[in-house]
Amino acid sequence: MNILVINCGSSSLKFQLIDSENEKWIAKGICERIGIDGSRIVYTPAGGDKEVTESVMVNHTDAIRLVLDALTNEKTGVVKDLSEIGAVGHRIVHGGEKFSKATNIDEEVLKAIEECNDLAPLHNPANLIGIRACKELMPDTPMVAVFDTAFHQTMPEKAYLYGIPYEYYEKYKIRRYGFHGTSHAYVSKRAAEVLGKNYEDLKIIVCHLGNGASVSAVDHGKCVDTSMGLTPLEGLIMGTRSGDIDPAIIEFIAHRENKSIDEIMAVLNKKSGLLGMTKNFSSDFRDLEDAYFKDDKLAISAVEAFAYRVAKYIGAYTAAMNGVDVICFTAGVGENAAFLRSIICNNYLGYLGVEIDEELNSKRGEDIAITTPDSKTIAMVIPTNEELAIARETCALCK
Ligand code: ADP
Repeated sequence: MNILVINCGSSSLKFQLIDSENEKWIAKGICERIGIDGSRIVYTPAGGDKEVTESVMVNHTDAIRLVLDALTNEKTGVVKDLSEIGAVGHRIVHGGEKFSKATNIDEEVLKAIEECNDLAPLHNPANLIGIRACKELMPDTPMVAVFDTAFHQTMPEKAYLYGIPYEYYEKYKIRRYGFHGTSHAYVSKRAAEVLGKNYEDLKIIVCHLGNGASVSAVDHGKCVDTSMGLTPLEGLIMGTRSGDIDPAIIEFIAHRENKSIDEIMAVLNKKSGLLGMTKNFSSDFRDLEDAYFKDDKLAISAVEAFAYRVAKYIGAYTAAMNGVDVICFTAGVGENAAFLRSIICNNYLGYLGVEIDEELNSKRGEDIAITTPDSKTIAMVIPTNEELAIARETCALCK
């Protein structure tokens, strides 16, 4: 079955058509600047050239229409007509406490996702628009919602409650939810598969290090803790997000700089992290890597702080699980920045007996253990594939 995977943001829409039999992508792309001047669709069929077409997209329905046109185009399309798309899998950022697994979308589910809008005001409304636009153009195609938060719903209360008045949890559901769940689930399962071990026998820590970054502890196949919280702002230092800070810093800046809460939140989300720490030099890890090796002082401090924070979370989650068997690195930075993996493992994980094999660590794009055969704890690189994971869950519900 061909599964169309849709990841809908406020002004962009990423898509991938995946053949669920051989698990290969058939076409993929992105619609950018939806509702803004200069909107365009970037489309790549497997084995073909990337096409960029400027096209007016007033809203997400226009964008989906263009995606479907591209997929069925006589010359560069990959399917004859829409009947060859068996189901659509939608990435939904926040499923609150209602969704602990993927689900078929009906009116009731749409309402329940809408009820989570307050918890992810930037993401969930856009995700819903994407679903509605798809339903309008493909009314008879089954649709599935796959939640970023679902995998983390197995966390125990002690991991998800904050040390704040309990009424806030009761009234507003303020608690740790965690994100990147589809990636944490995919990578941890894949690690067990690659090692030829039983998933339910392992204690795994997954470090998803991309622009957004989070760590999770997967104990015998279940997530028991994760570093992102009520929102994706908590935890690691990220490209532009601060991660953990003393909450009193917000009040301090508000008074000193005469800023509103909204303005400070924008700083913490968009102007902090690696970008802010390097005085707006860059949030892109490739730039930081270059500058680090040119002895740029701020780049060195930012990279060291980034690595140190990851190592601290690995330590915390080793304690949470009373041990760790496998540590996985994934996403743009985790998969590519070998020097960062070396810093984390060599400088901080000696107590776990992690012994990196630098030759294996320098390989790219493979599911691979990067530690020596004698290493007490195994470290691995597992390239994430959230689209494939969404397609699998969608297929499982639509068979
Ligand atoms: P997201 O999905 O959160 O936007 P990604 O997982 O795509 O993020 O990761 C983006 C990050 O990965 C960027 O900081 C980018 O610099 C980094 N990255 C990509 N390729 C490399 C590389 N070859 N070396 C180091 N970092 C890389």
